[in-house]
Amino acid sequence: MTRVFNFSAGPAALPEPVLRQAADEMLDWHGSGMSVMEMSHRGKEFIAIHAEAETSLRELLGVPANYKVLFMQGGAMAENAIVPMNMLRGKSSADYINTGEWSKKSIKEAKKYAKVNVAATSEATNFDRIPLRDSWQLDPNAAYVHICSNETIGGVEYHFTPDVGDVPLVADMSSSIMSRPVEVAKYGLIYGGAQKNIGPAGVTIVVVRDDLIGQALPITPSAFDYKQQADNDSMLNTPPTYAIYIAGLVFNWIKGQGGLAGMEAHNRAKAALLYDALDASSFYTSPVARADRSLMNVPFKLRDEALDDAFLKGAQARSMFQLKGHRSVGGMRASIYNAMPVEGVKALVAYMKEFEATHG
Ligand SMILES: *Cc1c(COP(=O)(O)O)cnc(C)c1O
Repeated sequence: MTRVFNFSAGPAALPEPVLRQAADEMLDWHGSGMSVMEMSHRGKEFIAIHAEAETSLRELLGVPANYKVLFMQGGAMAENAIVPMNMLRGKSSADYINTGEWSKKSIKEAKKYAKVNVAATSEATNFDRIPLRDSWQLDPNAAYVHICSNETIGGVEYHFTPDVGDVPLVADMSSSIMSRPVEVAKYGLIYGGAQKNIGPAGVTIVVVRDDLIGQALPITPSAFDYKQQADNDSMLNTPPTYAIYIAGLVFNWIKGQGGLAGMEAHNRAKAALLYDALDASSFYTSPVARADRSLMNVPFKLRDEALDDAFLKGAQARSMFQLKGHRSVGGMRASIYNAMPVEGVKALVAYMKEFEATHG
């Protein structure tokens, strides 16, 4: 068996010990004689798996008692609609900060349900930064302020929690959740798909403050109504059971790495190796303003894009996969989520130097 260094932006690499444990438990989970995939979601075995995953998530993220944790379906893309359906609470408009491709998708979807005010955008500089907080034109009557904490495609990340006063802050954390500590109490709602840092595609994490739920638009599908899901422990309908089980194993793995503080140290060390290599070279360039560079997704370009194919081929020959940049931006992108070992980043940096020496 050979495992490669997988730099995919998502679905992404999972910790090897988690995959091994899942393999060991595949046919017979804890003497139940069944795979977790085959269990009733209402049976005591799965209820225990579900409860443990929620407890671990609460512990790791430090979720206050007045917040609900929901395991939903539909991914962040569905949340782009579910958020306005649930969060308008009698108001008509919401503020959105536009920092790139995922913000744009959120805005496009929200416009079906709400009046959207783009309170700040970095479009003029090709989404290379987070707009300075002082420049945001917030509306005090907005139902909420929406941000994308980490733009997975553009590689731009918030390294601060914006203060938006009494208006609830809503964050799409799909590609940064669990990568470092978060001050949950500063948010009204946090959501994210699991397939970047938490587990397999199929489960969406929602952390929402109690007082914000229960006023969904009448058109809201029941399965997408936060209050109904909260009242039913995320089991109004069949939840994505296997994905929740794997997420629970990943949470245990994160605890073993020193929790989110440990993950942050590990992620900062990896990102520093890669950004230092980019900054030390004129052969490669990083398109993102230094202060706002993502710890998770590192886009970069070769000055001569005619060499892109050769770079990718050479990377694959050295067991480094999925380094091609998103089709909308081109170049390269290294996604270095929690499960990417530092050895993977060291191998990439060594290869970048070697490639520059032979092609520069
Ligand atoms: C991946 C991603 C999404 C889309 O998630 P889906 O699960 O495909 O719906 C949305 N926002 C961000 C920031 C992402 O990284």
